[in-house]
Amino acid sequence: MKTYPKEDIKIGWESEKCIHAAFCAKGLPKVFKPRDRPWIQAENATKQEIIDQVAKCPSGALSIIH
Ligand code: SF4
Repeated sequence: MKTYPKEDIKIGWESEKCIHAAFCAKGLPKVFKPRDRPWIQAENATKQEIIDQVAKCPSGALSIIH
């Protein structure tokens, strides 16, 4: 799992679970940028926006680590 820090939480991403449905990139494009490195840019949104979008990931590839 790769992790991306945001304030007192981290966003976790497991590439092998990701089905590339791009819900994250469509839902919160200022953070989830599949063409950029790093592809998750947590500084561009609030913690709550990120938590809400992570909850919509259909595969469980994204998670919030407290
Ligand atoms: S929403 Fe989840 S499964 Fe879809 S591209 Fe993003 S991380 Fe991958």
